[in-house]
Amino acid sequence: AQVDTLDIIVLALLLVGSIAYFTKGTYWGVPKDPYASSNLNGSATKKGSRNIVEKMDELNKNCVIFYGSQTGTAEDYASRLAKEGHARFGLATMTADLEDYDLENLDTFPEDKVVFFVMATYGEGEPTDNAVEFWEFINNDPPSFSEASDEAPLSKLKYVAFGLGNNTYEHYNLMVRNLDKILTKLGAERIGTAGEGDDGAGTMEEDFLAWKEPMWAALSEKMGLEEREAVYEPVFSVEEKEDLSVEDETVYLGEPNKNHLENAQKGPYNAHNPFIAPIAESKEVFTVKDRNCLHMEIDISNSGMTYTTGDHIAVWPTNAGLEVDRFLKTFGLDAKRHTVISLKAIDPTAKVPFPTPTTYDAAVRYHMEICAPVSRQFVATLAPFAPTEAAKKEAAKLGSESEYFKDKISSQMLNIAQALATITPEPWTAVPFSALVEGLNKIQPRYYSISSSSVVQPQKISITAVVESIRVPGAGHIVKGVTTNYLLALKQKQNGDPNPSPHGLTYEITGPRNKYDGIHVPVHVRHSNFKLPSNPSKPVIMVGPGTGVAPFRGFVQERAELAKRGEDVGTTVLFYGCRKPSEDWLYKEEWETYKQALGDKLVIFNAFSRETSKKVYVQHLIKENGKLVNELLQQKANFYVCGDASHMAREVNEVLGQIISQERGIDEKKAEQVVKSMRSSGVYQEDVW
Ligand code: FAD
Repeated sequence: AQVDTLDIIVLALLLVGSIAYFTKGTYWGVPKDPYASSNLNGSATKKGSRNIVEKMDELNKNCVIFYGSQTGTAEDYASRLAKEGHARFGLATMTADLEDYDLENLDTFPEDKVVFFVMATYGEGEPTDNAVEFWEFINNDPPSFSEASDEAPLSKLKYVAFGLGNNTYEHYNLMVRNLDKILTKLGAERIGTAGEGDDGAGTMEEDFLAWKEPMWAALSEKMGLEEREAVYEPVFSVEEKEDLSVEDETVYLGEPNKNHLENAQKGPYNAHNPFIAPIAESKEVFTVKDRNCLHMEIDISNSGMTYTTGDHIAVWPTNAGLEVDRFLKTFGLDAKRHTVISLKAIDPTAKVPFPTPTTYDAAVRYHMEICAPVSRQFVATLAPFAPTEAAKKEAAKLGSESEYFKDKISSQMLNIAQALATITPEPWTAVPFSALVEGLNKIQPRYYSISSSSVVQPQKISITAVVESIRVPGAGHIVKGVTTNYLLALKQKQNGDPNPSPHGLTYEITGPRNKYDGIHVPVHVRHSNFKLPSNPSKPVIMVGPGTGVAPFRGFVQERAELAKRGEDVGTTVLFYGCRKPSEDWLYKEEWETYKQALGDKLVIFNAFSRETSKKVYVQHLIKENGKLVNELLQQKANFYVCGDASHMAREVNEVLGQIISQERGIDEKKAEQVVKSMRSSGVYQEDVW
């Protein structure tokens, strides 16, 4: 027994000592919300705590990594940089949500410290929600810093910058580009290049990995840092609580926060606090061999939440049982899935990403993004914990060779458990749970463009969602969307199937402690700028193929209602597209009823891409109807595009330029400028994903 114990200690030391230093961590946040439950507004409450200079002094930090994040990726990159900076270079790092600090005192930021900005660009070159205030402040010309500013108020500031963007958007990586310009103008010194990751090209992760090495080299030189043998330090201590069981009322079984645990769900409902909403009705609006589209009516009465036409609703998903099982088995946690665990942040700036005490099962099922694409860096991190020497070698190879990784893992669209199974069938029992919590993202709510009008049904929000199910060419499996398959299961249950299992997936449909029973789903509303003109007599042109039609169903529903109420409604043109009229024509009959209310004011052009040998897309029909489009624009029509960001939206933008050039007899360059100014003045609006 002694030898066993010694073996274990030596092994543990070896493992701890040798883990790759750059664990992908997500949870080095300022403890604005240490247990995700105690502070539902998510704002820093302690007086003075919005002062980053003071905060860093208090915590003895010399490197802060701010993030402007919408979907969690920028936050994740910030955490990874924090962890790596500490492990490799001994920096005392912390991450910080931009909305938690006032940066008026950036001009007093000490010279021997460094600030990082990891900034996602959202929508049409906009800041992410959490960066809005900072963005307004820094864009003042000049920003009013705390001390009387001279010519170069930030001349002492050293900064590092990385942007997350999508090249299919007009304003690619605008946030980091502009921030970089502003900071330079204010006298600050950038270390390394201002990195740009491109989601549009699918190279975000590799762009990030390639950018950060030279950045670290430049930073080490500037700050006189010495790279050291990295030592894995878990961010969280994970304690198994023998004294607690799933029966205990204090144990979270997937409840998003304390109010929910205590059965007192309370508003305001937002990205930190979902409303468990009844699904009033659910159906499929089309079903063909391998594709189906859901329509759901979410009841928000008694929630205090409101929406206006064009807003988004966020759905909080639950992982499928099969994936939870696969994950727990992969890491040898299956047998103790219902053991109660408590996580504590070891570093005071880290935050536990879900409320505890909880169980392995609940943490994995409700809080961890276990099905997402795998990051190469994370596989490298796990390599030292592999169950065999051969597996260690293989994982290290995958972690260090980008082409090999692409070939074996990314191109096969594997999730983490599937990826590790390609290395060895044995369970990876040595991986500390903290490494998994750090390395995987917190599960993200998914957004849906609300497909109803708030004028017609203020208490019920419609969702139109295609169920994600992608057969991977060459691989023997289908990638099944986390949220849409969960919604499909809810729909099946509501419509009488006692044990729904879409695509072989089952879900804890009744939620933690049966709190979602009676077909409920956790949601919150996100307000958007994608809005009808306030004057209904203004014409509108809408382009929405596929589920891109979602908000336009709401727009048309609203204008039909206003027409019925006797208001003067302007021309309402919709360019819609689908594969075949007999297959996937969304709301085919419903448009007829709107037509009755709107008469000639409603004009719908349908593009069918698989009806004949000629593939017709919305952009073709827009071009064919260029005269009408131009006339309406000259009558001050608003122009809206919704749906696929990668191809459709860009092509529509181009076609519009061509139309304007042709119809107005101006050259294409000038026409492009017209389109640009339509965008900046809010006449041309996009809701694309
Ligand atoms: P996910 O699990 O998130 O998977 C999504 C995709 O990621 C997969 O199809 C696959 O391509 C990829 N993927 C997943 N796992 C892997 C893996 N292991 N390896 C490699 N690739 C992988 N959708 C609608 O249907 N209707 C709408 O009205 C709508 N409105 C939206 C509005 C906004 C503002 C935004 C941002 C998005 C909107 N979406 C809409 C998209 C929606 O939010 C979801 O992205 C979509 O429903 C898929 O979610 P999911 O959880 O089912 O799939």
